[in-house]
Amino acid sequence: MKVFKFGGASVNSADAVRNMAQIVQKHLESEPLVVVVSAMGKTTNLLEKLVPGTYECGDLRSQLEDYHRNIASALLPDNKGIQDKISSLLVNIDHLSKTLPADLAYYNYNYDQIVSHGELLSTTIICEYLNSLGIKTLWADARQIIHTDAHFREGRIDWPATESAAKTLLADSMNYNVILTQGFIGGTGSDTTTLGREGSDYSAAILAYSLNAQSITIWKDVPGFLNADPKYFTNTVKINQIPYNEAIELAYYGASVIHPKTVKPIQNKGIPLYIRSFITPESDGSIIGNYNVISPETPLYIFKNNQILLSILPRDYSFIAEDNLQVIFGLLNELGIKVNLMQNSALSFSICVDNNPHVVQPLIEKLKSMFRVRYNDNLQLITIRYYTQQVIDSIVAGRPILLEQRSRSTEQLIVPV
Ligand code: ASP
Ligand code: MG
Repeated sequence: MKVFKFGGASVNSADAVRNMAQIVQKHLESEPLVVVVSAMGKTTNLLEKLVPGTYECGDLRSQLEDYHRNIASALLPDNKGIQDKISSLLVNIDHLSKTLPADLAYYNYNYDQIVSHGELLSTTIICEYLNSLGIKTLWADARQIIHTDAHFREGRIDWPATESAAKTLLADSMNYNVILTQGFIGGTGSDTTTLGREGSDYSAAILAYSLNAQSITIWKDVPGFLNADPKYFTNTVKINQIPYNEAIELAYYGASVIHPKTVKPIQNKGIPLYIRSFITPESDGSIIGNYNVISPETPLYIFKNNQILLSILPRDYSFIAEDNLQVIFGLLNELGIKVNLMQNSALSFSICVDNNPHVVQPLIEKLKSMFRVRYNDNLQLITIRYYTQQVIDSIVAGRPILLEQRSRSTEQLIVPV
């Protein structure tokens, strides 16, 4: 059997859902197709603002309601049943908003209970719509299949429990055309969890792994795996074949085309992952699989904006030694800050991190009590795989390079935006 994943942009309007349903219809086989769907459009961002203890706004709650009701009534006119189902999910959200402790100490728990409703709403509507087209669709509750620990907002998978729940589900669903389930969400058995932002790709990979799927297809608004983000680049090249390891490296460096955790489970079982466009579904897309090199061979670019480069120096001009590094990494770990690039010299240690003021300011304060700290913000971290000097020069475009690291295949530079 196969697994398909549709992200928020592929189901962000009634027309988008019609298009998605057409793609599903064209790929029905004798075994059920497992379809994983995200929340519609930007619903997750909206729901994040309804989590108790964060900024709340009455208007957002009605925006959420109108958006889903309008899509449902366009797809399923005169279907009172679907509006009732939407009502009951909204009642849940309202009830949770009132009863969850509005204390930031419970933020991660509250977040998962509320934000998971984006996927519950989208799949409820889409299931009803697919059935109305005569596609026999089973709505499967991911909270009962994707078993996680209670690490809210970043649930860690209980693989044996998930594998067995997924296999039971599939065995019980053989007379359906489609098993439709939510991306991004899971459960501990008693509570809802989420797998981290943009985690629906990972959900699809978990199911593909658990069910020994023949393949997984992620339907996106780009024609495949491009050598650069089209937001920053006009002349992108589509990479047709990508080795698993390369995909893991690229996701690690910040390529946004797939969630970083997606590749490992499918690599373990040699399951190919297709990236295809829902806008031009007849075209080929890209394949991540058992290859040795990317094809075509071309430089790959990854840009991370809003970076801050911190230089940490001992107060007394002593060396930056292991004991200092241990303190620095202890703080980074405590604040949950991921280092994007680091470099040390005798007298200083430099780290480049995402400039999220909520955690970077406390970091700087704490560091200052022990070290001298200098920083530059508004920076861009550029990673180029398979670089040439000419490629580097054209990207840098005369800007000063604050830090540079080069290996045989990868060049990383930090420059002002
Ligand atoms: N809806 C979730 C998000 O926007 C999960 C996903 O789209 O992959 O982060
Ligand atoms: Mg999304």
